[in-house]
Amino acid sequence: MRIDLINTGTELLLGQTLNTHAHWLGGEFFQLGLRIQRQVCIPDGDEIRLALLESIPRSDVIVVTGGLGPTSDDITREITAELLGLPLEQDSLVLEHIRAYLARRHRELNANSYRQAQVPCGARVLANRFGTAPGLYFPPQSGVMAGVGQTPHIFLLPGPPRELKPMWTDEVLPILRGLLTVEPPGLRNFKRFGVGEAQVAETLEEPLRATGIMELGYCARPGEVMVRVIGSAAALDACGVLVRAAFGDRLFSDTDELMEQVVVRLLRQAGRTVATAESCTGGLMANRLTNVAGASEVFGWGFVTYANQAKERLLGVKASDLADHGAVSEPVVRAMAEGALGASGADYALAVTGVAGPGGGTAEKPVGTVWIALAVRGRVAGEPVTTTVLREHFPFEREMFKAMTSQTALDMLRRRLGQEQA
Ligand code: ATP
Ligand code: MG
Repeated sequence: MRIDLINTGTELLLGQTLNTHAHWLGGEFFQLGLRIQRQVCIPDGDEIRLALLESIPRSDVIVVTGGLGPTSDDITREITAELLGLPLEQDSLVLEHIRAYLARRHRELNANSYRQAQVPCGARVLANRFGTAPGLYFPPQSGVMAGVGQTPHIFLLPGPPRELKPMWTDEVLPILRGLLTVEPPGLRNFKRFGVGEAQVAETLEEPLRATGIMELGYCARPGEVMVRVIGSAAALDACGVLVRAAFGDRLFSDTDELMEQVVVRLLRQAGRTVATAESCTGGLMANRLTNVAGASEVFGWGFVTYANQAKERLLGVKASDLADHGAVSEPVVRAMAEGALGASGADYALAVTGVAGPGGGTAEKPVGTVWIALAVRGRVAGEPVTTTVLREHFPFEREMFKAMTSQTALDMLRRRLGQEQA
């Protein structure tokens, strides 16, 4: 099935808005086992005519986003109807929807509302729960365009993402699923902590292909490598066995979970809490943890102690340790983690301190040096705190350095939780 995606919007071409629809819809089609063959981005206005004239003869499905709005350059609806030779008629249900939608916002129907309520004969309205402009679906038709045997399935969708996404899920997906002749293949993402995309490919490529999967891909992100396999359920299960054997406890997800989601999930399962003490990551670990819904159950205290004074005052790091060993050192990271554990009463505490650069490196502690600690409270009264430390070297620019450091620290806790729950 050949699919064209046409994104309209001058703002997308002026560098003012990132074309997230192309990204999102690509993934949506992919999950159906389909893929977009061509995606074009065009300005508002008459350019849509040319884009449709090019796409209609070569496609089975066309999706157009944007240009259904009320302004004079929103002409997707009119041009499509014109090219397909379909007269526009006012749809009383759509008009009523717009009237009710506007009334809830204390606004009234206006001239543009009547335009948005115009529906080409033969097109189906796709309900818009979050806006005024309805989407439209044009089923294939024969003999309406010279040289085109049958027109493709054409979907016109609104520009605003909060309108487009629910419309896609509720209205478009059921239609597309009805067009599929075969069961869509499954997709699985295996995420491994650490680096080494090439190394992963070298050891796993052949055995994975031998399972009979349809597609294999790799993607490297800061501190993780993702292996993506597409194929039958049986092939995916066989891949799962191979990947688990190869990655061991470095495998942190076989769904699409992020590292922080895994950590929060494991903490919730165990009914335990974590605190953070961050120097060089400036709060990134706390940020990542609190991006996860439900984080408040497992995370209550995060310290950003960038200055030595803050490390001393908030975490009880000894001035002598700072003076003797420097802020980026094993005794200091250990004291930070244990200080955060004590102050917060959490079950675990993660601490990081490092040299983000570009300045501040020495021969002994070059830029990229980082110490990471995990302090774990004893299970029974009187049992001491145990603290594990790790020295790493991430000589990258600052954001990458922070991403790698937070990833490594979170993974340290993840593995610990995994071992405890095994
Ligand atoms: P309406 O005018 O009714 O809001 P429309 O269908 O004309 O809808 P646009 O005016 O083109 O849509 O876009 C509305 C909003 O959606 C804008 O903020 C725009 O930047 C955003 N938007 C449109 N297309 C995209 C896209 N491809 N990716 C991300 N955002 C988009
Ligand atoms: Mg627009």
